Amino acid sequence: MSLNLHGCGVFGAEEQRLARRVFPAPAGDGRSPFERDRDRVVQSRAFRRLAGKTQVFTSRASDHFRSRLTHTIEVAQVARQIAAALGLNADLAETLALVHDIGHPPFGHAGERALDRCLRRHGLSFDHNLHALRIVEHFEQRYAGHRGLNLTLATREGIIKHSRDYDVAQHPELAEYFLDQRPPLEAQIIDLADEIAYLTADLDDGVESGLLEIDHAVGHVRILRRSFEAVRRAHPAAEDKYVFHDALQTMQKTLVLDLVRQTAENVRASAATTLAEIRALPMRVARLSPQAEEERGEGKRYLFETLYTCPLLEREHAKAEAVVTELFDLWVREPEQLPGAYTEEIEAEGAPRVAADYIAGMTDNFILQQYEDARECSDHAEPARE
Ligand code: MG
Repeated sequence: MSLNLHGCGVFGAEEQRLARRVFPAPAGDGRSPFERDRDRVVQSRAFRRLAGKTQVFTSRASDHFRSRLTHTIEVAQVARQIAAALGLNADLAETLALVHDIGHPPFGHAGERALDRCLRRHGLSFDHNLHALRIVEHFEQRYAGHRGLNLTLATREGIIKHSRDYDVAQHPELAEYFLDQRPPLEAQIIDLADEIAYLTADLDDGVESGLLEIDHAVGHVRILRRSFEAVRRAHPAAEDKYVFHDALQTMQKTLVLDLVRQTAENVRASAATTLAEIRALPMRVARLSPQAEEERGEGKRYLFETLYTCPLLEREHAKAEAVVTELFDLWVREPEQLPGAYTEEIEAEGAPRVAADYIAGMTDNFILQQYEDARECSDHAEPARE
C-alpha cells in the first residue's frame, strides 16, 4: 500500500488558493507561504510567552519539565514527521503545530477551565482555538501596515479546525473557513500529533516528578509495557530509567507509524484523491487504528487518574483557579485598573471579554505578580484598624 497522499495535500493550485492573506504581502524571498507563516508565528510575542506557561507541571519544581513551548516544539516534530511520511505539506503541518496552543491561558487546563467559568457568568465562553485566532488576527501588533500576523487562509483555517468542528449557525464570523467541510489532512493530523506527543511527555514528566513510578506505569499502560519489554530484551543490564525513556520513544514511534498507516488506509478506502474530495468526506480520515486508539485512550485515562487529578496537582489547580477568578472579577468590577491601551476594546467588547483576553495572554509568573500586586493594593485600601 502506498502511503503517499501527495495528491490530497495542500500543494499546487490548492496551495495558491489557501495561501491567500488578508493584506497583500510582497512575495519572492524564496520561502513557501507556509514557511513564512511558520516564521511569523515563531517570531510572535504570544509564541515566546508559551515558555512561561504551564503544560502539566510548573517550572518551579524542575527545569526538566515541559513548558507549553517545549510541548509545542515536540508536537511540531511529530506533525512534521507524520506529514512527511504521508507526502503531505510538512511546512503547513509544522506551522499548525507551532501555533496550535498559542491561545492557551496560563496554568494549563486549570486556567482555561477557570476563565471559561468566569466568562459563562457573563453569558460568554472561552475557547482556546477562537482565542488563538484573535491573537493572530488582532492582538499581535508587529507590522507597520496592519494588525495581526497576516497569516494565510490555510493556517487560519487550521487554527480553528485542527481539533474540532464549529457550526456556522453559531459562529457566523467563521464563515470563510469552510465550516461545512473537513479540514485538509495537514490540519487533521495536528490533534493526534498533540495527543501522541503529550502521552509520551506526561509519562516522562510524571516519572521525573516522582508522582508516577516506572513499574506502575509499565504495569498499567499496555502500549508502554510492550515497548518497555522490547527495550529490556535488547538491553537486559540497562538501568530502568534508561529503558523507560527508550520505551517512551519506541511507544511514540509505534503510534506515529500506526497513524500514518491507518490514515493512508482510510484515504484509500474513501477513494479520495484530491483535497476537494477529502473536504467533502463525511468524516475526518486522519485516525489511529482501533487498537492503537484504544491503547492511547488507556494511557490517557491512566494519566488522568494517577497524575492530572493527584492531590498535589489538584492543589495547584485550585490555587490557579482562584488567581484567575479573583483577577477576572476585579477587572470586570474595576475595568479602569486594566492597562490604558484596553479602553477602546472595553467599549467595543465589554470588560468581561477584555479581562479574559488580558488574562489569557499572561504567563504563569506574570499573572502571579498581578495577583500579588492586586492583593497588596486591596490590603492598603482597607481602613486602618484601631
Ligand atoms: Mg497541545
